[in-house]
Amino acid sequence: CGIVAYVGHREACPLVIKGLKRLEYRGYDSAGVALMNGQGLKVYKKKGKVVALEHELEGKDTHSTIGMGHTRWATHGEPNDVNAHPHYSFHKKLAIIHNGIIENYAAIKQALLKKGHTFSSETDTEVLGQFIEDIWENNGGTLEEAVRLALQEVVGAYAIVIMNEADPTQLIAARKGSPLVIGVGENEFFLASDATPIVEYTKDVIYLNDYEIAVIKEGVLKVVTLDNATTTPYVHKVELEL
Ligand code: GLU
Repeated sequence: CGIVAYVGHREACPLVIKGLKRLEYRGYDSAGVALMNGQGLKVYKKKGKVVALEHELEGKDTHSTIGMGHTRWATHGEPNDVNAHPHYSFHKKLAIIHNGIIENYAAIKQALLKKGHTFSSETDTEVLGQFIEDIWENNGGTLEEAVRLALQEVVGAYAIVIMNEADPTQLIAARKGSPLVIGVGENEFFLASDATPIVEYTKDVIYLNDYEIAVIKEGVLKVVTLDNATTTPYVHKVELEL
């Protein structure tokens, strides 16, 4: 299972696909990407190998300078196209990818069902995406704040990345228990499960810590803890041979 995301000036789709292939060694059963090109948030996903996803993308307008991709190792819901990530939130304002397990997803899902939500997949991940959007809509604060409040309630392990339909410069990522690396380039940022998809673009990487949220917006990276303390991340120089 793996995560790759990009925001900057390059074409995101080929970069994300290439990155997912570098992470194939981690094992997975399905793959997907989310892109944004002026017609909203677009999700493409497919059971099987990254090559099957590439076939799915053939002939589509994949132009986008922001994007995220996922390879799934199914834990909640069988491997199929619908359960593959990314998942839209209920009102499709967000898309989310996730590696790990949300252990208390059933209780959160129950509460959302009571509020009239419906779910298209059987995954714990879709529940988290809907939960974040629901908090965001009801709190009236920022998406960053909604992510923080949602994750304070979550039991389990996760590396997540979220795209926001209203902001094509924004990626929000967080981790607890599952790895997530941030590549810092010139006016561009990379996110991945390990450094291998990143090193050909930049040697400057930040290893996100457990309980940290990375907010990339308008070319600026900020890292906060789940308690909303701003942290100064340490930028490592990686010397990795591919
Ligand atoms: N628990 C999630 C699912 O089953 C994520 C699995 C993963 O780590 O890829 O969809």
